[in-house]
Amino acid sequence: MLIDIVSIFPAMFAGVFGESIIKRAVEKNLVTIRVSDLRDFSADKHRRVDDTPYGGGAGMVMKPEPFFEAVKFLKGKGKDPDSCRVILMSPRGELLNQDKAKQLSRSKHLIVLCGRYEGVDERVHRYLAQEEISIGDYVLTGGELPAMVLVDAVVRLIPGVLNAASLEEESFSGGMLEYPQYTRPRNYEGMTVPEVLLSGNHELIKHWRYEEARRRTLEKRPEILKKKQL
Ligand code: SAM
Repeated sequence: MLIDIVSIFPAMFAGVFGESIIKRAVEKNLVTIRVSDLRDFSADKHRRVDDTPYGGGAGMVMKPEPFFEAVKFLKGKGKDPDSCRVILMSPRGELLNQDKAKQLSRSKHLIVLCGRYEGVDERVHRYLAQEEISIGDYVLTGGELPAMVLVDAVVRLIPGVLNAASLEEESFSGGMLEYPQYTRPRNYEGMTVPEVLLSGNHELIKHWRYEEARRRTLEKRPEILKKKQL
C-alpha cells in the first residue's frame, strides 16, 4: 500500500511515523508513506499556497492549483493511477470510524490532503477529493493531526501489521467496545483482578468477557449496541 500525504508542514509527520508500529510496518514494506510539501507544487515565485477569500471575510483560503498539481504528480508516481483514492481532511467530512478505516486499508494508493488557515478552496472539495473525512466534530488548526490519525487507524489494519487475533477482539470489531483487561499484579493496593480471570476456565472467561463488553457498551455507547442488534 502507498500513502501520500500533502501538507505545508511535512516535518510534523516524522515523529509519529518514525516510531512503533507504523515504523515497523514501513520497515517490513507493508506500507510506503511519503510526505510531500504542498509548496513544491506552487507556481508562485514565493511558493505561496493561500490567498484572500472572494467575497471578503476573515483569514486566508488555500488555493486550488497546488493541490491539483500535487495530485496529478503523485497519481502519476503510483503503479495504478485509477486505483488511487484522494482524501481531503475536513471537519465537514464523513466521520472516521472503524468500518471506514477497514475499507481504506484495502486500498492500493491513498493521497491525503491537509488543509490549513480558513480552509481549502471549494473546487478541491468538489472536483479533486473523492472523499472528505473528519476525525470529530471540532475544528483543529490544520489537517496534519487528522491525517496522522487516519493513517494510524488504517495502517494497523493492513494484513501483517498486527497480530490478527488482537484485531478480532478489540473495540468496534464485533460491534461492541472491548472487555476490561488486567495484568500483574493480582492485587495493587487493594484493587484486585476479578477472580474469574484467574480461574483458568476458558469458557467462563469467554462468557465473562462477552457480558462485560456488552455491559460496558450499553453504559458508554448504547447506539453501537443498537446498530449491532439491527
Ligand atoms: N473554516 C473551516 C470550517 O469551519 O470548516 C475550518 C478550517 S480548519 C481551521 C483548517 C484545516 O484543518 C481544514 O481545512 C482541515 O484540513 C483541517 N481540519 C480541522 N479540523 C478537522 C477535523 N475535525 N477533521 C479533519 N480535518 C480537520
